[in-house]
Amino acid sequence: MAPLWTSTDAATATGGRSTTVWQAHGVSIDTRTLQPGDLFVALKDVRDGHDFVAAALAKGAAAALVSRIPEGVAANAPLLIVPDVLAGLEALGRAGRARARARVIGVTGSVGKTSTKEMLRCMLLGQGSVHAAEASYNNHWGVPLTLARLPATADFAVIEIGMNHPGEIAPLARMARLHVALITTIATAHLAAFDGLEGIAREKATIIQGLEPGGIAVLPTDLAVSPVLLRAASAVRSLTFGTAKSADFQMLDVTLTADATIVQASHHGARRLLKLSAPGRHFAMNAMGCLAVAEALSLDPTIATHDLGRWQPPAGRGMRERIVLDAVDDLSFELIDDAYNANPASLAAALEVLAASQPTDGVGRIQHGRRIAILGDMLELGEGEAALHVAVAANPHLAAISTIHCVGPLMRGLHDALPKRQRGEWVATAPELLARAATLVDAGDIVLVKGSKGIKVSLMVDGLRKL
Ligand code: ATP
Ligand code: MG
Repeated sequence: MAPLWTSTDAATATGGRSTTVWQAHGVSIDTRTLQPGDLFVALKDVRDGHDFVAAALAKGAAAALVSRIPEGVAANAPLLIVPDVLAGLEALGRAGRARARARVIGVTGSVGKTSTKEMLRCMLLGQGSVHAAEASYNNHWGVPLTLARLPATADFAVIEIGMNHPGEIAPLARMARLHVALITTIATAHLAAFDGLEGIAREKATIIQGLEPGGIAVLPTDLAVSPVLLRAASAVRSLTFGTAKSADFQMLDVTLTADATIVQASHHGARRLLKLSAPGRHFAMNAMGCLAVAEALSLDPTIATHDLGRWQPPAGRGMRERIVLDAVDDLSFELIDDAYNANPASLAAALEVLAASQPTDGVGRIQHGRRIAILGDMLELGEGEAALHVAVAANPHLAAISTIHCVGPLMRGLHDALPKRQRGEWVATAPELLARAATLVDAGDIVLVKGSKGIKVSLMVDGLRKL
């Protein structure tokens, strides 16, 4: 297999100095996941990557991208020495992008970036080879890393672009040089850092600055701030999706069943029927965005619609699993792992999914189990955070849920606001609830676990899996 980077190519791309001749077949920033033959990039994040160069080389790294020769590493070790490692990675990303023939789709939005990236991967795989990061690599190192890993021969690349600070999206989008820029939705995520939805919308819309000439923006129509997005895209061609009549891809009807979402859609009068293999109105909306991307790329719409049907929600974002409690007696419960992140929009979507889900046994027979929610704090919501947690009690889908267990100081507000019959446990931290995991579920139940990353309700997912 042709190498991803040779020492010559990487030195040319970065302006750095290679100590030896080497060839790398991948790019890694983490010795725990490094594969032999990878170029190890000694990034400084929580810890300084230079401290791990020796370990990376011992594990079989082809070379290391560094700004100095780390202690304990021989001067004749395979190194690519640059003034600044992040700038070096960005240069590799730019060069990786420049030599690629892929058509590149950028995905941004307040929620649903990774979910949509995975949906696009699934849709595009039927029509060519697809490069996309395996994780939520959407920041100042995630985007260049994904581009540095882009095989020159890939047909499509899907790049997730996020923001933690104003001004972050445009330079990342420009680095990725997009053919299509998709905005999933604008919601109250990260409100702590931005004032108001309009500001967030304007910021997300800067992804459009990364479009190549002739590139297409794919935008949602149903938001209060949709006009802000459309205005920002007025100089480029755009395709829209949503329930609004004006949408190029209009969602006419959505039906959630226990294990599927049936979507009736219309593209300028041409009807499309789409079946997704997991229930979720938000999944349906993401799929509409994907169909618009297919149109933007001039792909076969029938194949695209069909392939979207094979998509399954990724781990942490609605993935469904059957957990066997007793194989002999055929006792099991269903787990919905939505523990990767939470904010009011995605929590509302997840509660609707749980309410629509039917507790069944392993072979689909309806059981009289309970619908149980384990909800962790939604973080980074800013001043209104306490009220936003209490407001969940007014969600109409809660009526279909038997018991709600709450994790975290903010979720105390929801716990207290719940009617007594639905009020489960409240604990300050996930490990406290973990200790009681076995008492929370029974065979036939269906359990949703959701919360912000920082509150670590993913521990509950791991714990429930082991029951
Ligand atoms: P991050 O900024 O952390 O990378 P993200 O934008 O990649 O987040 P996802 O990880 O895809 O978002 O999803 C976060 C949560 O939002 C998940 O619970 C997911 O199921 C839910 N979600 C996905 N799409 C939507 C949508 N269109 N509307 C509301 N919630 C959504
Ligand atoms: Mg993500």
